[in-house]
Amino acid sequence: MLIDTYGRVATDLRVSLTDRCNLRCTYCMPEEGLQWLAKPDLLTDDEIVRLIRIAVTDLGVTEVRFTGGEPLLRPGLVGIVERVAALDPRPQMSLTTNGIGLKRTAQALKAAGLDRVNVSLDTLRPDVFKTLTRRDRHKDVIEGMAAARDAGLTPVKVNAVLMPGLNDDEAPDLLAWAVEQGYELRFIEQMPLDAQHGWKRDGMITAGDILASLRTRFTLTEEGAAERGSAPAERWTVDGGPATVGVIASVTRPFCRACDRTRLTADGQVRTCLFATEESDLRGALRSGAPDADVAELWKKAMWGKKAGSGLDDPSFLQPDRPMSAIGG
Ligand code: SAM
Ligand code: SF4
Repeated sequence: MLIDTYGRVATDLRVSLTDRCNLRCTYCMPEEGLQWLAKPDLLTDDEIVRLIRIAVTDLGVTEVRFTGGEPLLRPGLVGIVERVAALDPRPQMSLTTNGIGLKRTAQALKAAGLDRVNVSLDTLRPDVFKTLTRRDRHKDVIEGMAAARDAGLTPVKVNAVLMPGLNDDEAPDLLAWAVEQGYELRFIEQMPLDAQHGWKRDGMITAGDILASLRTRFTLTEEGAAERGSAPAERWTVDGGPATVGVIASVTRPFCRACDRTRLTADGQVRTCLFATEESDLRGALRSGAPDADVAELWKKAMWGKKAGSGLDDPSFLQPDRPMSAIGG
């Protein structure tokens, strides 16, 4: 098991497949992009599948989420999904994506064994989308989501980040639209993980702001802790249900005590938390010929060192060197 000194057990593995992206969301990346990882530094498809196999068969991982950067940019994605689906025990598999290209790949991903997707969409307005992501691709995202739903990659969850002065008036419209489309909407508080270090605690839209805005149009009823489990999103039923809306309040109501995650970067580093300042090098172990048991031992050791919390609530908080896109969000 991947257990830490606080007794938390990590069963949910986030795998970043690439640090590259075809959007430039302002809360994530600068306009010019970033210094991308060099190809030889990236894990190969075989190395990724081997690490996931070790996690699933030796370390108790039951859920695998592919992310990035933009995971749909990884050429071997469908093959990786297929090989992970063949593992015994077979983990639950999902993908967090900006949705661009999903229209083309949704059927193949479903056929390969992917269970569901989270698609990021912050606005219903194409012009605001262009300002937020610096690319004119709103239509592609909307079509990608519909393709995922039609392919049965359900429930399709929608991740939205609200930015002051840009889309902070859109919470009720986004929810009405998601309910109509049969998508499960979750708002994520903006976190200090952008490469440009542009996050400001004072300026951010909080979970409290989001809920107040939603309540101007909907009746929200909070689900109990039992339903939440280790899930980061607190959820509310909308107008008596069955539709729900989630809020991931990583900054104002952190969920670190129930965290069940472990993370693998595209260059093979284990991170215990988005906000961790240390990493453990599994790629080096793989490439120096370490057997599975030694790799598993390294992973366990890394998780044993997991800190109690993100440190966001501490005045001495330091943003990690790697931005979100290079960790895997
Ligand atoms: N490119 C894919 C996407 O956008 O869904 C996957 C990677 S992205 C880093 C994963 C999620 O992190 C997205 O839902 C995105 O909105 C969110 N995200 C990125 N930067 C963030 C930040 N600074 N604060 C909160 N969420 C952020
Ligand atoms: Fe790309 Fe996702 Fe970051 Fe947007 S949030 S720039 S889509 S990695």
